[in-house]
Amino acid sequence: MRRIGLLGGMSWESSALFYDLLNRGVAERLGGFHSARLLMSSVDFAEIEELQRAGDWDRAGELLADEAARLEAAGADLLVLCTNTMHKVAPAIEAATGVPLLHLGDVTARAVRAAGLTTVGLLATRFTMEQHFYVDRIARHGVAVLVPSAEDREVVHRIIYEELVLGVVRDESREAYRAVMERLAARGAEGIVLGCTEIELLVGADDSPVPVFPTTQLHVDAAIDAALA
Ligand code: GLU
Repeated sequence: MRRIGLLGGMSWESSALFYDLLNRGVAERLGGFHSARLLMSSVDFAEIEELQRAGDWDRAGELLADEAARLEAAGADLLVLCTNTMHKVAPAIEAATGVPLLHLGDVTARAVRAAGLTTVGLLATRFTMEQHFYVDRIARHGVAVLVPSAEDREVVHRIIYEELVLGVVRDESREAYRAVMERLAARGAEGIVLGCTEIELLVGADDSPVPVFPTTQLHVDAAIDAALA
């Protein structure tokens, strides 16, 4: 089994989910006492959040590239960046290591295509919904991405940063996300990408009128495939 290097802590609430799902997934596939071979570098999210707000993506890229190099030196065979948003700096990470980075945009788009869909709605941070790095990466696979209205994007983003990354899960917020998913489906979304690694803590398949693509679970499944290949 290859050793998976996790770039985590963004936030640790979702990294805990990665750790849990990776171990459960390997146990399910291999049985017995098997568990995942993992290394994790978990950053201080306060530092990252400040750089995001300041728009200092170069510094954030340097910081994560440095963490990736540490994982490589410690023996990681592949890298999993446990956040959609920070894929904005995936090129900086890739340039700093010789270890393959399992890009979440590719993983997600492949899952959408495998389900036979070509248009999806995206729930994510405003960085992921409004910038090009993620939407364009998915579009490369022939999948069109619909983002919520400006008002809905504000709600989705606020709930991530004021609640989910702090481990707060509220029924009112689940209702708000359900309504946003309804509106995306009414505009033609055939599926909804849960494009932020904490969103799975709030909503799942039962909350959406169309199939959901939970990026933490998809990333975990792809990482296990790669580790066992
Ligand atoms: N975990 C989130 C994501 O997948 C947001 C936190 C972050 O900005 O990294 O985008």
